Amino acid sequence: MITYSVIIPIYNEEAVLHETYRRLKQVMSHTSESYELLFVNDGSQDRSGAIIKEISAWDETVKLINFSRNFGHQIAITAGMDYASGEAIIVIDADLQDPPELILEMISKWQEGYDVVYAKRLERKGETFFKKQTARLFYRVLRVATDISIPLDTGDFRLIDRKVCDEMKRLPEKSRFVRGLVSWVGFRQTAVEYVRDERLAGETKYSLQKMIKLSMDGLTSFSFKPLKLAGYAGGLLSLSSLLYLAVVLYFKLFDGKAIAGWHLLAILQLFLTGFMLVMFGMLGEYIGRIYDEARDRPLYIVRECYGLEKKAKKLKGIG
Ligand code: UDP
Ligand code: MG
Repeated sequence: MITYSVIIPIYNEEAVLHETYRRLKQVMSHTSESYELLFVNDGSQDRSGAIIKEISAWDETVKLINFSRNFGHQIAITAGMDYASGEAIIVIDADLQDPPELILEMISKWQEGYDVVYAKRLERKGETFFKKQTARLFYRVLRVATDISIPLDTGDFRLIDRKVCDEMKRLPEKSRFVRGLVSWVGFRQTAVEYVRDERLAGETKYSLQKMIKLSMDGLTSFSFKPLKLAGYAGGLLSLSSLLYLAVVLYFKLFDGKAIAGWHLLAILQLFLTGFMLVMFGMLGEYIGRIYDEARDRPLYIVRECYGLEKKAKKLKGIG
């Protein structure tokens, strides 16, 4: 029985992997219990997979899951949770922005009896102004928009207990916003605080496009408020157009003025068309997700595994 599973999603991280491995080993050697380092290679095009494969040949604590292509960070974490066999599961980024040393603090909270220990960022170093501000805004919008409380400024760096992991595995949804799901399943949760370091090497693997997808997943998976908002705004707009009609009729009937309204109409026409398009866009987001669920495709396809028994068929993916 393994006590700790450390899940490390990797996407083109060859520049940092040796150091990540070294730091993780160093930290985990402080625990007397057994552990595994489970690397999920999310379709890297560089030598990331080969590096971990080499290490796994002589270090049996190192395990590797190779995806058949890039499925995304959140799916890689999900796969890690499916394959992890530890009593406590720790998710950490490969780029050492999340200091591995914090794992020991998380473990001691877990030993105190907490089921989820998430790492809260006090400060983010070495990231662009744009990234910091959009991330800040995102967590605040998420807080206002959702009914469950997703803690502010926490990423996926966290420890979860086996029972939380098992509950997460029962959630069938395809648009996975892991930190939201962890909040959703509940149990005893607590935080440890840290300062987020700079990336050790390489550059961010989260393109703007991936960031937008992540935030849309977070928002639409946990909130219907955007849909309602469109409804409210639409209602308000219809009411104001009635008011507008009343004003025009008033001038026509009681003042006898002719209203040269064609340019007003043109503006209104444009405005309404724009508004309807926004609403269609909103609907599209949800319909797209319904489509995703209805298709019921496996979340990921594993190409090969090292150091793991073959148990893929029981899991969500097909291997
Ligand atoms: N990652 C991944 N798949 C992706 C993008 C990123 O597995 O499609 C991994 C990446 O290797 C890293 C973690 O997710 O371990 C976080 O990514 P990154 O550090 O680039 O994001 P940032 O810290 O800039 O938000
Ligand atoms: Mg990073």
